[in-house]
Amino acid sequence: MSYRGKSSKYVVILPERDADVGKGLSILSAFTGKLLRVDLTAGLCDEEEWPVHTLMPGFLGGSGLGAKYLWDEVDPSVDPLGPENRLYLFTGALTGSGLQSCCRFEVTAKSPLTGILGEANCGGFWGPELKFAGFDGVILMGISPSPVYLWVHNGKAELRPAEHLWGTDTIEATARMRDEVGEARARVVCIGQAGENRVAMAGIIDDEGRTAARTGLGAVMGSKRVKGIIARGKNRLQPEAKERFTGLLKRVRDGYSSNVGVESLRKYGTAGGVEATHALGDMPIKNWSVGAWTDGAQKLSGVRMAETIGTGNHTCYACPISCKRDVVVPAGPYATPKGHGPEYETVAAFGSGLLNDDIEVVARANYLCTLYGLDTISCGAAVAMAVEAFEAGLLTEEQTGGLQLTWGNAPAHLTFIEQIGHAEGLGELFGRGTRAVSQVLGPKSEEMAIHVKGLELPYHDPRAHTGLAANYATSNRGACHLQSLTHQIDRGTTLPELGITQKTDRFAKDGHVDEVVKTQQVCILLDSLGLCRFPFGRMAITLTDMAEGMSAVTGDEWTVERLMTAAERIFQLKRAWNVRAGVRRANDTLPKRVRELALEGGTGGYLPDVDRQLDGYYSLRGWNEEGIPRPEVLERLGLTDVAERLHA
Ligand code: SF4
Repeated sequence: MSYRGKSSKYVVILPERDADVGKGLSILSAFTGKLLRVDLTAGLCDEEEWPVHTLMPGFLGGSGLGAKYLWDEVDPSVDPLGPENRLYLFTGALTGSGLQSCCRFEVTAKSPLTGILGEANCGGFWGPELKFAGFDGVILMGISPSPVYLWVHNGKAELRPAEHLWGTDTIEATARMRDEVGEARARVVCIGQAGENRVAMAGIIDDEGRTAARTGLGAVMGSKRVKGIIARGKNRLQPEAKERFTGLLKRVRDGYSSNVGVESLRKYGTAGGVEATHALGDMPIKNWSVGAWTDGAQKLSGVRMAETIGTGNHTCYACPISCKRDVVVPAGPYATPKGHGPEYETVAAFGSGLLNDDIEVVARANYLCTLYGLDTISCGAAVAMAVEAFEAGLLTEEQTGGLQLTWGNAPAHLTFIEQIGHAEGLGELFGRGTRAVSQVLGPKSEEMAIHVKGLELPYHDPRAHTGLAANYATSNRGACHLQSLTHQIDRGTTLPELGITQKTDRFAKDGHVDEVVKTQQVCILLDSLGLCRFPFGRMAITLTDMAEGMSAVTGDEWTVERLMTAAERIFQLKRAWNVRAGVRRANDTLPKRVRELALEGGTGGYLPDVDRQLDGYYSLRGWNEEGIPRPEVLERLGLTDVAERLHA
């Protein structure tokens, strides 16, 4: 029996488990079999056994499980910042298993930024630690009457008061929570001032620098008055087939050590690709309006970062790659304490996107986003739109409070980030996202808002990789480069198990949709198993390895085909939820600028034809002309209840 109890400030779950839970069920070796459900309104924590044996084969974990719970529990019409929205933090099926780079967790809720399914994925150590603390996931529901944080340790959970932490940044809050629970090695996810202020582009910061960034889920956590979740535990998972698992670990280790792409990632992080990405025309410049900026790209490269402000690197749980940068700017106007360095996306957001060619500025912007808990992609897009609108006369000095929001004016950009983080002045409006800003500033500003379904585009340009067009248009959370691998296939990644055996022509108008569909599902697999996409995209770990990992860990037999069917099920379920939230074909598009403004540089003036791609895409997906999954497709995937709901 699980224990459920309540006191004013302290709620305890005893670490006992029903005697028959897990009996004869080998796959519990991959899972704790428990979720922690927290009713914030009532101040109750409840241990909940989730039906691993019926849900896991269909929805795996992480992203898939989040989608399933969202479908079952959250009506798409709810207020994203109201008590009826729920925040799911679910570990992947292989997270914490010890398989290399399997460290990730997924956060799912209705997004306050887009109004549709919101999700964000994050690596580091928190996901594994949550499993070690006794839970596969946490569900936050309701709204706490006052700020709290959640302490999860060895099968117990406590809600603790957090009034004294409200208003602190994420680095201070993390240190103080660790101090208060007396566990210096506990792992923390928390929000900063942006989440507290319910800024729609707020993320959830993991261990002082990684971020579950996209779709504003930090604001959902803030709306529930939860400052953070701190976890520590001793429970270790054991693979069901130990020898098989050990053999896999050795093969993957050998694959990593002989992989050139992995070596580059280790040396320079994702920013190591800045110059190559710029050369292809893939790195957006000046709010997606300029095609080349060679000198700037050189100054912002990962190599330059390593040579100037770099101090080393660090890693995530069970990952020998260590791609995460450490940087410091010891003095000067952009002084930044030693900490996590910017990724490629952040370099483009606050570097090329704003015509800042000083890597110290980017490091400072990254640091501010970490402190306040902001998504660097959306925040960079918001600052770029503000600059363009100011330069075009759509914003006055009076409106900006005297801030000269001009291209390359780094001090003004940094000040504006602070305003967004604190929801102050004009920052309050821009923190709502570029779509919301364009609705206020009017039609002339619309082309400056670079988003799909309200989610700002990441910094990879569909004019350089045509497959990104159909992916951005149909990705379930809005524009997202992490929900397909087509731009990597253009650069040489192959997936022989799926029949993708050669590089694609990045400018081919047709022929990409098959790869979009397949790799959208691959990305769902990564996010449901908890595997990092960096080694996968560099072919250091394969789909066959993923199936082998699932077989060895769960003791059940998994094939690539079985995994891909589960991924398709998850994708269609997410789409079905979004259809109920109002998504139709008209929403599956790209921003005007990306469709119509041809650029010089690496794209050579190419423009993708997203409508032409959508016809083929819908046909492969089995969607009708409005973008609604047909009943027979849902039924084939075992989603009969979903089909009935959608087509009632
Ligand atoms: S490759 Fe980098 S981001 Fe991925 S798990 Fe390893 S250290 Fe973390």
